[in-house]
Amino acid sequence: MKLILLGAPGAGKGTQAEVICNKLNIPAVSTGNIIREALSKGTEMGLKAKSYIDAGQLVPDDVVIGIIKDRLGKDDCSNGFILDGFPRTIPQAEALDAMGIDIDRVIDIEVPDEKIIARMSGRRVCKSCGATYHTEYKAPAMDGVCDVCDAELIQRKDDHPDTVLERLEVYHKQTEPLKDYYSAKGILRVVEGQEDVADTTALTLKALED
Ligand code: ADP
Ligand code: ZN
Repeated sequence: MKLILLGAPGAGKGTQAEVICNKLNIPAVSTGNIIREALSKGTEMGLKAKSYIDAGQLVPDDVVIGIIKDRLGKDDCSNGFILDGFPRTIPQAEALDAMGIDIDRVIDIEVPDEKIIARMSGRRVCKSCGATYHTEYKAPAMDGVCDVCDAELIQRKDDHPDTVLERLEVYHKQTEPLKDYYSAKGILRVVEGQEDVADTTALTLKALED
């Protein structure tokens, strides 16, 4: 199964990608994670991406398309994959088509902007192991400290309130048109994001079947 998870930043694509990945035993491919990893390693690509990410802008199409070509060419993707955070623009979707990749389903997770803003402003991530938390919905046992490894929890620079607004604007302008793109192909399914992650998962799994 070749899947795309679509949705605003903070809609919960990453969480759902992990669940489906375990359930269907196909890899979750997150361009955001790949870029952040490159960034933390200080590679050339990472350095190039940093200014865009920090400003809440998209990394240029040619960079992310290159990343995806590399990643989807690996053996573990031969039985399918879940794309989380790609494509995010029409040219990216066209590049996927040009690679001859036939997507089976596109799940669009819908969450209203107000909820996205509340969610992202509370999001925290462990500096050391990358575990994610939320000050309200998924608080660590001790304030500001990772449950897993005791390291400090920080707020991603792109989760700061001003950047979140910018990312939402970018989403509506550049990514949302993908809904029509995939709807026209008959493979789009819309899932309303729920308060409870497990409820969203149930809806997502159901949307994979019909
Ligand atoms: P989100 O919380 O928005 O799902 P991600 O972790 O997917 O965030 O991505 C973080 C940042 O990485 C984005 O704001 C963007 O700058 C960059 N990025 C990730 N995927 C893409 C993509 N497909 N095209 C362009 N930029 C991307
Ligand atoms: Zn940790």
